[in-house]
Amino acid sequence: AATDESGTLSPFHFSRRENGDEDVTLKILYCGVCHPDLHNLTNEWGFTSYPVVPGHEIVGVTTKVGKNVTKFKVGDRVGVGVMVGSCKTCECCQQDLENYCSQIIFTYNSHNPDGTKNYGGYSDMIVVDQRYVLRFPDSLPLDAGAPLLCAGITVYSPMKYYGMTEAGKHLGVAGLGGLGHVAVKIAKAFGLKVTVISTSPQKESEAVNRLGADAFLASSDTAKMKSAIGSMDYIIDTVSAVHPLFPLLSLLKVNGKLVTLGLPNKPLELPVFPLVSGRKLVGGSDFGGMKETQEMLDFCAKHNIAADIELIRIDEINSAMERLARSDVRYRFVIDVANSLSAVGVVDTSAPLKKSCVLYYTSSVLGESIKQIRALRTRSISEVERPSRHNTA
Ligand code: NAP
Repeated sequence: AATDESGTLSPFHFSRRENGDEDVTLKILYCGVCHPDLHNLTNEWGFTSYPVVPGHEIVGVTTKVGKNVTKFKVGDRVGVGVMVGSCKTCECCQQDLENYCSQIIFTYNSHNPDGTKNYGGYSDMIVVDQRYVLRFPDSLPLDAGAPLLCAGITVYSPMKYYGMTEAGKHLGVAGLGGLGHVAVKIAKAFGLKVTVISTSPQKESEAVNRLGADAFLASSDTAKMKSAIGSMDYIIDTVSAVHPLFPLLSLLKVNGKLVTLGLPNKPLELPVFPLVSGRKLVGGSDFGGMKETQEMLDFCAKHNIAADIELIRIDEINSAMERLARSDVRYRFVIDVANSLSAVGVVDTSAPLKKSCVLYYTSSVLGESIKQIRALRTRSISEVERPSRHNTA
C-alpha cells in the first residue's frame, strides 16, 4: 500500500471479506499497472484515501464461489476490472452501464455501503460479487490479457458508442501508452486506418512495425502536423497530462469526433474555433459496463489482441511507477503477482484464505521524482506549435 502522497508502495497486510452467497473469490495471478494507479498513489486527483492498494486489471482463477453463483465454478479463469459494485437498480445499471451508476464502487480507493474499504489487485486474492467478475477467454494470455480489463474496455467502448468502427475511416490515437497501444490494435481489427500522434518520436518504428499503425505523427514535427490537418475522421485522446487540444482538433475532418479518455488533474482548454468551424464533436468516456467488457474480451480473443507488456515482480513496482511517469514503458507493466508475492516470503500461506497482502520496493523519493518527471513532460508538450485557425476544416 501507499500511505501518503509520496506514493511509495510498501508492505501492507489486510483482510478481505468472507466469500458471500453471491461472491467469487479469486487467487490473483497477474495485475496490470494502469496510469490511474499512479494518479491515485500520489493523490493527483485529490481524493485518495490512504492507505491505498492499487490495481484494477486483475486476472486470476476462482478458488471459491458462493451458493448463488451460477456464472462461475472453482478453477475458472476470470478477470476483475475497474469496478466491484453498483446499485444494480438505477437506469444505468439496468442498461448495462454500471460504470455510470452514481453509486459505483471502484475496485480500490472506494468504500462499500457498510463502510468497509476496498483494496485493489496488487495483492494475492480478492472477493467480488459475481456480477462484476468476467469470464477470461481461454485463448487470451493471462498476463498480457490483464490490461484489457481497463485499457481494453476504455478504448473499445467509445469506439462502439461514438460510431468509430467503420472500416476504412481514419482514426488518430493520441498518446501511445497502455490505452493508446491497445486502441491501435482494436482499431486495426475494426479495419480502420490508424495514425499514432505522439510526443515520443522514438516510438515510431514500434508503432508502425510492431503494433500495426499505418502512420506516425510526432507532435513536435510542425511540418508533418500541418500537412495532416483535416485528415482524420476520429481521434482517441489517451494523453495522461494537461495538453493543448487545438492541434488535435485541427487534425479532424469536418464532422470529426475527438474522444478524451485521459484524466489529467487540471482541466483541458477547449478551443471553440476549430470545433465550430468544422462541426466537430468532443466527447468523453469512462471504461465500460460489464456486458460490454465481456464483449470486448471475446472480441480481443477472436482477433488475438492482447497488450504488449513488461512483466515485473512486485518488488519492482516503485521503479516501474517512476518509469510510467516518464512514459518509459512498452506498453504496460504487469505484475506477476502469484510468482513474486509469495517468493519474497511476505504471504503467510498458513493463514486463512481471507488474508491478503501487498508488497513494495523501497524508494522514499518516489513522489518527489514523479513530480519532477511530470514537470519536464509538461514542458515538452507545451512546446507543440498551434496550427493556424484557417487551416482547420
Ligand atoms: P500511459 O500508459 O502512461 O500512457 C499515457 C501516454 O500519454 C504516454 O505514453 C504518452 O504518450 C502520453 N503522455 C504522458 N505524459 C505526457 C505529457 N506530459 N505530455 C504529452 N503526452 C504525454 O497511461 P494509460 O494507462 O494509457 O492512461 C492514459 C490516461 O487515461 C491516464 O490519464 C489515465 O488516468 C486515463 N484513463 C482513463 C480511463 C477512463 O475510463 N476514461 C481509464 C483508464 C485510464 P506518447 O509518449 O506517445 O506521447
